[in-house]
Amino acid sequence: MSGYAECDYTHLMRLRLGLLLLHLSLPLSPALCAADPSPRDILATLNALRLDSQHVYTISPDDRIELHEGDAVLALDQGKLAFFQPFEDHITGFVFSGLGHSLAIPRSPVEKQQMARFLAAPILDQRFVSVYARFTDDTASYLLAQLSHASRQPAPDAGFAALWLPNVERLNANHSFRILFEKYSSSPRHFFHAGIDGILTGPFDVLVDSMRPENFLLGQPRAASGSAYYDVWTSYALPTSTPPPISFDALHYQINTTIRPDNSIEADASVDYRALAGGESVLFVHLSRALKVETVSLASGEALSFFQNEGLTEEELRLRGDDILCVFLPSPPKPGDTFTIRFRYRGNVIENYGNSVLFVGARESWYPHLGDASEFALYDLTFRWPKHLRLVATGQKSGEHEEGDFRVANWKSDRQVSEAGFNLGEYAVASISSANHSVAVYANKLLEEAILARLSHSAVAQEDFGRAGMPDPLRGGMHTTPALPPPPPPSPADALKSLAREVDSSITFYEKFCGPFPFHDLAVSQIPGTFGQGWPGLLYLSTYAFLPAEAQQRAGLSAATQESYTDIIPVHEVAHQWWGNVVGWSSYRDQWIDEGLAVYLALLFADSQKNSNRALLTWLTRYRKRLLTKPLDSDLAPADIGPVSMGTRLNSSKSPDAYDVVVYSKGPWIFHMLREMLRDPASHEPDAHFIALLHTLVFKYAEKALSTDDLQREVEAAMTHRMDLEGGRSMEWFFQQYIHGTGIPHYRVEFTVRHAEKGFQVRGKLFQTSVPRSFIAPVPLFANSASGHGNYLGTVIATGEETPFTFITAADPHKILIDPHMTLLCVTD
Ligand SMILES: [Zn+2]
Repeated sequence: MSGYAECDYTHLMRLRLGLLLLHLSLPLSPALCAADPSPRDILATLNALRLDSQHVYTISPDDRIELHEGDAVLALDQGKLAFFQPFEDHITGFVFSGLGHSLAIPRSPVEKQQMARFLAAPILDQRFVSVYARFTDDTASYLLAQLSHASRQPAPDAGFAALWLPNVERLNANHSFRILFEKYSSSPRHFFHAGIDGILTGPFDVLVDSMRPENFLLGQPRAASGSAYYDVWTSYALPTSTPPPISFDALHYQINTTIRPDNSIEADASVDYRALAGGESVLFVHLSRALKVETVSLASGEALSFFQNEGLTEEELRLRGDDILCVFLPSPPKPGDTFTIRFRYRGNVIENYGNSVLFVGARESWYPHLGDASEFALYDLTFRWPKHLRLVATGQKSGEHEEGDFRVANWKSDRQVSEAGFNLGEYAVASISSANHSVAVYANKLLEEAILARLSHSAVAQEDFGRAGMPDPLRGGMHTTPALPPPPPPSPADALKSLAREVDSSITFYEKFCGPFPFHDLAVSQIPGTFGQGWPGLLYLSTYAFLPAEAQQRAGLSAATQESYTDIIPVHEVAHQWWGNVVGWSSYRDQWIDEGLAVYLALLFADSQKNSNRALLTWLTRYRKRLLTKPLDSDLAPADIGPVSMGTRLNSSKSPDAYDVVVYSKGPWIFHMLREMLRDPASHEPDAHFIALLHTLVFKYAEKALSTDDLQREVEAAMTHRMDLEGGRSMEWFFQQYIHGTGIPHYRVEFTVRHAEKGFQVRGKLFQTSVPRSFIAPVPLFANSASGHGNYLGTVIATGEETPFTFITAADPHKILIDPHMTLLCVTD
């Protein structure tokens, strides 16, 4: 039973599948009054629940004891079963040891494919030896009825209960919150969770929780190469379920933050909320566990009860704490009511990398944050920080001044945004202003110096190596060119200026595709590490993006990585100003849209630059190769792991980095294919349809979540006749194959040529492999004549394994080229 260490309900709650706690809040039942126990007392009671050792049931196969939970069936064939002691007359759990059998068949082909990836079969069909189950539904009465029907009488069995006691003690707290919240609900949304010890699979979870938009989940925690993963075997909404209502939205954040000389923060946030569903009085917000909440109160000053990692010790907090703060309102607000909550908290969310290189670690939870990336609000941020540092934040800055050893300034958002952020350091700055916007680039002075020192060190080492090598007599004798002097160290000032210019011109470029730049100011700030982030009006960029090519090379970056840091990543983050910061996403299944578009627009920008060297096609070729190449730590090539709409579920113990590869490589290809299909080469603006599509998306989905289904509808509204492969103005074929499907088609042609009356008759077959037989795609064919010119023959709609075609051409085609201009994500011979 040691496996239960991992069968942890809070772990499941933390999985960002769509999500979860933030969208739920539960009404305080009117019966609850001052004389009732406090939430804290109730939690303690729930944590103290033990098994009822006086009523243990013995089960045999003839009893046919079965549970149906969502799409899963759990048969308890033989063994012992004990219920938990009742909590307020309701039984909230049981344990079982013996032999049982679990069966589940996911509904959709994609979910079956994911099951097969983890279980080697598209269904769950596993025997198990024990179950730890907690629930708020009618599981107990359902089981009791079956036991009674089988004439099973319970008997005392202290030994059985004692055997389970350590697990019960350890696991209770994981479920107590979930049970408690439901007690506060006037329209409870039930859950059932079973942690099961499978004979072949090891521990796995069956979860049916109506608080999750996808209320049915099967999966298991797993360790691989020293890292912990949660492998989601399947997750989806059962057909009978309704999505949980959104209880509150945040309208306005006013956050006063003081940064102490030791980099700890002390803050006071007043947040205006509006009740949406009404009648609900528990509010969940994100707040880093590194920040300790001191008080939570209403505008009147009335203190509110709250839970923040309730009852955990410091060590437990690190190991299994979470970043969720739960606040109990004194009475349930009516729909439309607005109210303000004030939070005071302190702690350390700023990481210090030495040399005054500071960086905000808890990027999404450094303030009490309600909602996900599609919940937009206004922000008013005031910071006080040590005066030797510079601070940049989201919004428009005003009133910067000195107060003793501190500087103080205010940043206000000029439109609603989904999150706010800041960064600080000993910065050098370069800026560029135009009529509509300004760009300022901030880089750490001392970090630059540290990098320069390291670089000049490695430069010396290289020179030494050069001198030790054999002199080249030919070159030395024939030419008198003096040896090249060592390259000058990169100048931070020049690098900042050139980055500011690049960012500025990308803004102008994107405005054509996406409409006006949504903010006034864009601050670009340097962070240690290798990732980037595009906040509203604020970018975090890796140090590498600030280095000139030659310095990147000396720092050991490969050519493609250098190009990525210089040409793609900075402008990718700029594109997020529209895609992510104006158009949001809410489900993990839709995040690929913003990422895919931000990569694709970055490629188009890079391609538009002088000496771009066909950047678009170069990168698309690289991305296709990444999709087709199986990494060492993965069981499959990324193209076959799962669809882009599987989002972060692509990362698992079997493929730790698949999300990055699939979403960032296939995402831009999807938009490239759409652009190519919408393209009209004869028009003075060949991309007019594609541009109109993006403008519609920015306009219609501003400050909202854009889902994959929304995108399909908008593409269908914009599609041209040639895209209508199936008739009925449907892009279902494209979305099913490339967005909800896996695999990349391989194409090959065989053909014969005959003299015809006017020129040559070309007859042949287009062969399609590596994808399901139902796959269809428009495949352009070109003839390469003896003169080497590619003449467009026509587009064959590939259907099934082979599609015949006939063309008449003027010249004898020596060779047929399949999609030479790369309009389609495919592999050709
Ligand atoms: Zn991105």
